[in-house]
Amino acid sequence: MTEAEFRDRLGRVAERIDAACARSGRDPRDVTVVAVTKGHPAAVVATAIAGGVREIGENRVQELEEKVAAIGRGAARWHLIGHLQRNKVRRSIDLFDLLHSVDSIRLARKLSEEAVSTGRPVDALIQVNVSGEATKGGIGGPSALSSIGEICALPGLRIQGLMTMAPFTDDARTHHRVFAATRRLAEEAGAALPRFEARHLSMGMSGDFEAAIEEGSTLVRLGTVLFGERDR
Ligand SMILES: *Cc1c(COP(=O)(O)O)cnc(C)c1O
Repeated sequence: MTEAEFRDRLGRVAERIDAACARSGRDPRDVTVVAVTKGHPAAVVATAIAGGVREIGENRVQELEEKVAAIGRGAARWHLIGHLQRNKVRRSIDLFDLLHSVDSIRLARKLSEEAVSTGRPVDALIQVNVSGEATKGGIGGPSALSSIGEICALPGLRIQGLMTMAPFTDDARTHHRVFAATRRLAEEAGAALPRFEARHLSMGMSGDFEAAIEEGSTLVRLGTVLFGERDR
């Protein structure tokens, strides 16, 4: 993909973001695109950065490592958006600016320990699963708020909001329901927990980002709509 092609795609995405913001009375400056480059080579990351993107998302530590090595740690803001295994916490912790996927208390404890020992707090979002889908990771169920509280109490973490993935469906009502429930949970957490910073809602992918924006998303994680289909 050339830089001109990328700029064109990004421009069309920006128009859709603007329209979703207009429909919901939001300011488009409050929505940030995280360009998800997983499955694409580092050259694609370079094209995206040249084309005006500042935020890059990867879902696997190995791939994040490779891209950061090729592109440079300071050349973008790096987001780790996929499940992080506890045994990869140490090697990943300096590679991202924001971790979207704190999906268990056990992972949160490990991250906090590591952050305390390095002396640098970790900025992160808690991944929640409000739809109760068994195939999706994340904090869910009736005790979600108390689990979020436990995670926020850990000294090494700065929790800046929630992340969610909607069920894979074409049904926009389902997307809206899940995103709205996530927003309400973030509002509850913000009201109940002094250390929870209700700053970000990471919601929305290529198939559902407009619904996510209408429900308050501040970070949309976009792969396919910017870079085309990935090889399976
Ligand atoms: C791959 C991925 C995305 C981007 O998905 P697209 O449908 O290609 O936009 C977003 N979030 C997470 C967690 C992902 O793994």
